[in-house]
Amino acid sequence: KGPDPDIAVITDRLRNVRRKILVLSGKGGVGKSTFTANLGFALAHTGSETEPQEAVMTAAEEETVRQVGVVDIDICGPSLPKIMGLENEQIHQSMSGWSPVYVQDNLAVMSIGFMLPDKDAAVIWRGPKKNGIIKQFLRDVEWSDLDYLLVDTPPGTSDEHLSIAQYLKPGGIDGAILVTTPPEVALQDVRKEISFCRKVNIPILGIVENMSGFVCPNCKHESSIFPATTGGARQMAETMKVPFLGSIPLDPRIGKSCDSGQCFMEEFPDSPATLAFQGIVDQIVE
Ligand code: ADP
Repeated sequence: KGPDPDIAVITDRLRNVRRKILVLSGKGGVGKSTFTANLGFALAHTGSETEPQEAVMTAAEEETVRQVGVVDIDICGPSLPKIMGLENEQIHQSMSGWSPVYVQDNLAVMSIGFMLPDKDAAVIWRGPKKNGIIKQFLRDVEWSDLDYLLVDTPPGTSDEHLSIAQYLKPGGIDGAILVTTPPEVALQDVRKEISFCRKVNIPILGIVENMSGFVCPNCKHESSIFPATTGGARQMAETMKVPFLGSIPLDPRIGKSCDSGQCFMEEFPDSPATLAFQGIVDQIVE
């Protein structure tokens, strides 16, 4: 069997994407999609909402606006449409391919969630069919010029991960961010993610520890909810020689904000979780 001709088409389609970043987690429910969505919001943030009088940007300001795309390859459990406030949106087809759904001019999202008859519809597909749709998300979507393409993946290392690694290989994947929670069981899975990245030559941008403590919204005291293992991700990062990007505390408002499709950082700019998240974003931006 010769090389897959679609891969050359994908490479050409994405030739003007400056950085491609995967977000991975060993387990489900650790906040990977929440992280990806908010990273998308943060990278695409223009600041114009807080300064309405300056809503019309100068050409120089426009130059600095980042173009961001987010592709959801969690085919059986797409959650980005809800988290990004796009639940009833649909994709449109044009001569040059599918147009993604836009949160705002510079933030485009593609997910199988936009193609389902209703939000509770189940996608029960085997590997080859899932790989086919991932290929279409890269090959047939009008991604245009992007500064960042973020890829939200399913938990673990499965068909979807192998496919994305294969499809994006010629143009290169700039890096992976690994999201985990403190418990040892979740950390064990991160070790597997690290081995996966090393095996397929994806650089690791770093590990994010999510839900690492609880900040009481009333008294603002931070308590550890997994006292035995909090800080374990940092230690593991050191042992495995990968960067540690930071810890985000558990804040019940994050869940609420995401359930209503809002950008958490904009809703709660002073929360410890926002400050922690911003510190992580600053390390990712190039
Ligand atoms: P995954 O993509 O890893 O399966 P999700 O991003 O769907 O996980 O997050 C699982 C749940 O946890 C969601 O309800 C989300 O709102 C919530 N969540 C994620 N991070 C936090 C956090 N730091 N504080 C509070 N809730 C969070």
